[in-house]
Amino acid sequence: MKIYNSLTRKKEELSSKDNTVKMYTCGPTVYYFPHIGNMRAYIFMDLLRKSLKYCGYKIEGVMNITDVGHLVSDSDEGEDKMEIAAKRENKDPYEIAKFYTDCFIKDTSRLNIELPEHIAKATEHIGEMIDFIKKLEEKGYTYIIDDGVYFDVQKFKGYGQLSGKDLSTVGESRIDENSQKHHPFDFALWKFVPENHIMKWNSPWGVGCPGWHIECSAMGEKYLGNSIDIHTGGIDHKPIHHENEIAQNDAKEGKRVVKNWMHVEFLQVDGGKMSKSLGNLYTLDDLIKKGYSPLDFRYMNLLTHYRKALNFTFESLASSASALKSLRNLVLEHKGAPNKTKEEVLKSYEDQFVAAISDDLNIPLALGVLWKMLKSEEKSNDIFLLAKKFDSVFSLDLEKETKADEIPEEILNLANQRKIARENKDYAKSDEIRNLISSKGYTILDTKEGFEIKKI
Ligand code: AMP
Ligand code: ZN
Repeated sequence: MKIYNSLTRKKEELSSKDNTVKMYTCGPTVYYFPHIGNMRAYIFMDLLRKSLKYCGYKIEGVMNITDVGHLVSDSDEGEDKMEIAAKRENKDPYEIAKFYTDCFIKDTSRLNIELPEHIAKATEHIGEMIDFIKKLEEKGYTYIIDDGVYFDVQKFKGYGQLSGKDLSTVGESRIDENSQKHHPFDFALWKFVPENHIMKWNSPWGVGCPGWHIECSAMGEKYLGNSIDIHTGGIDHKPIHHENEIAQNDAKEGKRVVKNWMHVEFLQVDGGKMSKSLGNLYTLDDLIKKGYSPLDFRYMNLLTHYRKALNFTFESLASSASALKSLRNLVLEHKGAPNKTKEEVLKSYEDQFVAAISDDLNIPLALGVLWKMLKSEEKSNDIFLLAKKFDSVFSLDLEKETKADEIPEEILNLANQRKIARENKDYAKSDEIRNLISSKGYTILDTKEGFEIKKI
């Protein structure tokens, strides 16, 4: 497989030891509902993992959950996003983290995103981060000032290789007069925090919390060691977060730790930035409320290469929804038809599919191969089977229509509520829920095991 490496700015052949790809993905900061831009980043991760698997690689993947240490600004200023959310919602930051982590996991599952093998929470790896900083300190890469322990970028020779930043031309990020930092690009490894901070830990340097960048370096090392094949994340992380991760990793190990960096471009709305203040920041639930399914949005993501901005509009979402419906119908027309396709024809489609996904994850082209195959070949079950195989990457539930009698989540929730009411001997409530279920077109039968639901 060839992938574009943001570090060398070239497409390169992926090489990995024992055919196992060690992959690290920057995960969410769990202080608010994930938006559809965030989900683009994880759909990309998922397509990459599934394409690698299709091509015969095994994967050892890690994704962090940032539940501490991500400040409002990437450059160590402002408050911790978790503490702000805790104040906003009058909750403990750990409750905030739990709630929004669950929201994130729910969205990934609705989008058919397979989570990496290891999901690592920052708050559960503080010891590893402290050990990492100690090693950097031993090697002379750190210094301490009033508000924390900092990484000294001028001591690390390779700083700026990912972003192209030059230490001698600091431009707008000139150091402000009151700062004790040695260079504007220096960044916090450990921040001292005031007494009223809820998330804080003891360390050899004083009570505080870790910087955001150290989290990914320390957890990457713990699960993947000091040689990582691919590191993914959104394009916004390239200039600061990932540049700093490289500095930490490579300074500590004295060699390049991450071989390939892959960055997904942003999702935009109506051709511009998506933001809360513009009122155009959407979550997956917002799309569902408008009648779309999560997989309509996933389909839309397959149409744009990950290194191009994806322009989200409701018109394009509507056309994705209708395209997905036609695609599923077309797939089902092939299902069960007598096998007619020649071996070499099937092979040629699979070769085209593999060539597309192996060329820096050209998913739009691979989707085109699927459409071409379904449309131009005679109805035949072997085409159906190959389409299903391709769907191990696309994950669009292409057989969906066959599950017509699947019980919707809403009905299952009601049935569970009714079960609880019955257990509490609240028969009035249980009857009320039964009526509600039947008004929605389903009947419920009580069985020894619990209940059985049928479509009327
Ligand atoms: P955060 O929780 O802010 O760290 O973001 C989680 C992931 O979503 C990161 O990989 C970001 O780079 C990515 N991301 C944030 N906004 C967008 C967007 N509009 N389009 C694509 N990816 C995004
Ligand atoms: Zn990260």
